Amino acid sequence: MNAREHAGNLDNPSVRPKDLVGYDMIRTLVAFPTVSRDSNLALIDWVQRYLEGFGAATTLTFDDDRRKANLFATLPAVDGNTTHGGIVLSGHTDVVPVDGQPWNTDPFEATLVGDRLHGRGVADMKSFSAIGLAFVPEFVRRGLARPLHFALSYDEEIGCIGVRRLIADVVAKGVTPTGCIIGEPTGMQLVVANKGRKTWRCRVRGHEAHSSLTPQGVNAVQVACQLVAWIAERGRMLRDGHRQDAGYDVPFTTTHVGVINGGTALNIVPRDCVFEFEIRHLPIDDPDAMFSELRAYAESLVPAMQAVDPATYIQFDTLSEMPGFDNEGRTPVIDLAHACSGSDLEHKVSYGTEAALFHGASMPAVICGPGHIEQAHQPDEWVRLEQLARCEAFMRRLVDHLCAG
Ligand SMILES: [Zn+2]
Repeated sequence: MNAREHAGNLDNPSVRPKDLVGYDMIRTLVAFPTVSRDSNLALIDWVQRYLEGFGAATTLTFDDDRRKANLFATLPAVDGNTTHGGIVLSGHTDVVPVDGQPWNTDPFEATLVGDRLHGRGVADMKSFSAIGLAFVPEFVRRGLARPLHFALSYDEEIGCIGVRRLIADVVAKGVTPTGCIIGEPTGMQLVVANKGRKTWRCRVRGHEAHSSLTPQGVNAVQVACQLVAWIAERGRMLRDGHRQDAGYDVPFTTTHVGVINGGTALNIVPRDCVFEFEIRHLPIDDPDAMFSELRAYAESLVPAMQAVDPATYIQFDTLSEMPGFDNEGRTPVIDLAHACSGSDLEHKVSYGTEAALFHGASMPAVICGPGHIEQAHQPDEWVRLEQLARCEAFMRRLVDHLCAG
């Protein structure tokens, strides 16, 4: 944290739970054990009833098994407007598992430890959603000049799966918010861009032979290694190239092979090798263009393989795709977020969030939430009360900006 940031920071080491409007709401949301693999319906049902109690119109969009749902809820403006303009407060409801992690407190009972609140999801990312919900009575009391929307999604932690259905539904309904604030943990700093990420699996099928007869085989491991070397070399070119954005901690697009499996014994020319790789890219870079080049290289290797055995091949499967996003200058939601945070600093991050999906659906997004990514997914996940107080100060200014009176 630099000096300028520190000057604008609301550090208050003596924040107490009773100073926080959203403290009980955070404890309520954490108590729902919404691990991604499990249902989130109990939480969604509870929040839906709560919001409807304040006059919100709500819509659920379900997964294929109807075990999980997204909640989209709209508090209407005082003039009855529910569709035009306004802001979306967005958070995912799922959390990562606690299996095998050494927790000192019950992960699903938010527990105060000194000046920190411990519990699964207190940083990633139930506190932001809870604080937004806790301010609903205040938004309603003051009267909204534009609608306020809540977007609570499922399956973010396993690839931002749920929110895609929510966004498609919002677009289909003709709801056109001015922008979206995503409360992923940023230490309440404004994040205005994140990298995209696309991942693939590559399967190389060779031809088995005794290792004394290597010319009669097609070595799948060695072919895979040629492709891996190509990917690594491309990573070096990107590192040394001119497409750089100093706003990121790693200012260029990166490539990475994370898993490889092949071969069964040293005296057998291996028949199969499988590896998985990613391109984590600046929003301006096109991962598909790079992938096309890789595939062309792979195709150049195939004739020599098939000269030995026509059944050999190299295949690629796309595993996942998250676009990047970049506001590229000021948008109204960024101006609003600056006004609410009291800081004029902006940041960019190399990990993906739901922000890109909202952004791509004409809802310019900014990421700003309490807690730090370093504590996310950890045993004894925690957030400082000071961070929660900063989030509440943000929310209080948001009330001032969005309300008519
Ligand atoms: Zn998260």
